[in-house]
Amino acid sequence: MQSIGFIGLGMMGMPMATCLVAKGFSVFAHDAGAAVLPGASMVPLAGVAQANTIILMLPDSRAVVAVMEALLPHLTPAHLVMDMGSSLPAETRRWAAATRFMDAPVSGSVVKAKAGTLAIMCGAADAEFAQAEPALRAMGEAIIRTGPPGSAHAMKALNNYVYAAGLLATAEALVLGEQHGLDLSILADVLNASSGRNIATETKVKQEILPGRYAGGFQLGLMRKDLETAGSLAEGYQAELLALCRARWDAAVAALGPRADNTEIHKLVRGENA
Ligand code: NAD
Repeated sequence: MQSIGFIGLGMMGMPMATCLVAKGFSVFAHDAGAAVLPGASMVPLAGVAQANTIILMLPDSRAVVAVMEALLPHLTPAHLVMDMGSSLPAETRRWAAATRFMDAPVSGSVVKAKAGTLAIMCGAADAEFAQAEPALRAMGEAIIRTGPPGSAHAMKALNNYVYAAGLLATAEALVLGEQHGLDLSILADVLNASSGRNIATETKVKQEILPGRYAGGFQLGLMRKDLETAGSLAEGYQAELLALCRARWDAAVAALGPRADNTEIHKLVRGENA
């Protein structure tokens, strides 16, 4: 079975790497914090290069730069680095020009990461995709090839913009419904059976927002970063709803902090209208 190096054992990285261990991969794992992955060899950063395929599941491009600068001297032409976090497309193209590097960002949140059923977007040429594919199939269900390196990170940012807009609209609908004395659980049923249905109405309203759990596992600060990335794609185009979304998530991060859950955007909307 293939060996995999894995850097970044956070909310998503831990369950993804756990899937690799469960499916028999030999995993060399590293995290800047205290995380320990059962069944893997925990190694210093350069130790992940014992495997030819190295996965990064880091918060942002700044962390990717820090890790890649330390890793680069240890890489050979056999190594492939796969950035599965949501990073800047321009940074990904830069690394792909310097070494064998591809983007494979994911969608599906912690629930699908645990189940090994993530949607995975891949920006890679055939040889890199072939090397990555066994590990990708251990973590994901829908594997979609998007084009050259950088294209997957661009599509991921656009996907998260559409998700953010859907979640924000859902939060506003819940606050409006509450103000009108509606039964919000029935409102959720109506949305999910009707044309307003989206992933936020399906997986966040009854599960996270109405019970007051607010534990979807995706931080407000990461959503703000993804909206910034989407904004970086809007050169010469006036994306007005995107600009509005960015302003709303900036306000949420300012009010609630970057580590609050993304579903807490509902608290911002509700608090402003209390
Ligand atoms: P997280 O903050 O929970 O985890 C990041 C991990 O990286 C942490 O364990 C941290 O210690 C480690 N790390 C940071 N800098 C490091 C460094 N220099 N060297 C080694 N380790 C380092 O974040 P997450 O929620 O797991 O998200 C990871 C990426 O996946 C982000 O780009 C995010 O936007 C994306 N993403 C998240 C979700 C989600 O639902 N949480 C879904 C899809 C995509």
